[in-house]
Amino acid sequence: MQGLATANALIERGEEILLLERDSDVATSTSFANAGMMTPSQSSPWNSPSDIAQILAGIGKVDSPMLMKVDQIPSLFFWGLKFIRNSTPKRFKEISRNLFELANYSKNLTVEFRKRNNVTYDESEKGTLKIYRNSESMNKSISQQEKIFSNLDAVKIINKEELVELEPQLKEIQTELSGGLLFSNDEVGDAYKFCKILEERIRNNGGRILTKTNINKILINKGHVKGIVTERAILEAERVVICSGSWSRELLKKVGLNLPVRPVKGYSLTFDTTGLNNVPNISLVDESIHTAVTSFQNRIRVAGTAEFAGYDDAIHPKRIDYLYRMLENIYPSLYRQLEEGEGKIWHGFRPMSADGLPFIGNTKIEGLFVNCGQGHLGWTLAMGSAALLADQLQFKDSEIDKNPYLASRSL
Ligand SMILES: Cc1cc2nc3c(=O)[nH]c(=O)nc-3n(C[C@H](O)[C@H](O)[C@H](O)COP(=O)(O)OP(=O)(O)OC[C@H]3O[C@@H](n4cnc5c(N)ncnc54)[C@H](O)[C@@H]3O)c2cc1C
Repeated sequence: MQGLATANALIERGEEILLLERDSDVATSTSFANAGMMTPSQSSPWNSPSDIAQILAGIGKVDSPMLMKVDQIPSLFFWGLKFIRNSTPKRFKEISRNLFELANYSKNLTVEFRKRNNVTYDESEKGTLKIYRNSESMNKSISQQEKIFSNLDAVKIINKEELVELEPQLKEIQTELSGGLLFSNDEVGDAYKFCKILEERIRNNGGRILTKTNINKILINKGHVKGIVTERAILEAERVVICSGSWSRELLKKVGLNLPVRPVKGYSLTFDTTGLNNVPNISLVDESIHTAVTSFQNRIRVAGTAEFAGYDDAIHPKRIDYLYRMLENIYPSLYRQLEEGEGKIWHGFRPMSADGLPFIGNTKIEGLFVNCGQGHLGWTLAMGSAALLADQLQFKDSEIDKNPYLASRSL
């Protein structure tokens, strides 16, 4: 996602670009089947005290929505210390506001791109709905929203009757609900379809994209970037932007840069809803366990869970079962029409930074830039992050304050 968005921003500003991707298609990694929510409303980092408590409680437990594998603890130690250091109420508030500013900017750029190019990617402008099963957690969430985000115009507090009016498919669980929040400024869209549109735009505008091209190494000479080494060739370049998501750290490590980003694995299940009844029409978040149910055209996707498990590609049945149970809990009627095992299973690795903010801009190696670490918000933040990167590469002022996200804070 970040590679395509960055390439598109640069090419729109007159730069020549060559995009390298190790897989046989673009966006087959973490941007393929994510929840697709473009949610400025989710602009809080994952190091709130309650998240940290859940992560610690999930050490070694495969059935927990947040799991930390014991063998990952050594490699997470220093990253984890930074993660915890950034969880004070003051930092949490600052980081949430920074994420919110970038998310809003990014969402507006995405809408503007969609309208200008007259494209569509199963997007919906209905907003997102957060549901609560007890009034304590709902009130806590409202007070947190008020403390962090001064502009609450786009948030509507709704009672359970209004919830069912808005989403009739919640009727069966109405008695279990306390109420909800509607974030009408959020959007939803298929991130993979959006990436394919970016790919087409890049190619049509003269950009080159090489797939099946694994980057082995970045070439440096006397503090300046000189190019990159792939499995097939050495390519010279005066400016290189690393947008390799969770894998950026490995490439940067080889040139002596320590990027505090770690993979946080998540899963999704996608169901074809053609011909089914009781299909929800609005996308929904259960924030306490970072789970989302997204409605696309003729599809529904349930996504969530967070595993600190390195780059382990294994699909754990308990995590998948957890997503089935989530769907059953929220939309029992729809669930009853589905066969267990019917959902398309996918997993991805969120590139999670230790302070919850992405890394955008130049490093101490001249000509070497990065754009990564967007964590759980990589689709939401993509177009804005790409614009900030392009501004820096072209020595231009940005429309929002770029300072909180500068890569040079660590690299
Ligand atoms: C379950 C789940 C749900 C999510 N839901 C949402 C959501 O609703 N909204 C949202 O905003 N975000 C969401 N996210 C987060 C979002 O998906 C990610 O932040 C985003 O996809 C990261 O994009 P990226 O470009 O940084 O990384 P990726 O999409 O992983 O792309 C990195 C690319 O770099 C390539 N690469 C890596 N190393 C090399 C190399 N050495 N040489 C060549 N190529 C290389 C990879 O093949 C890959 O294509 C979700 C994530 C998960 C896991």
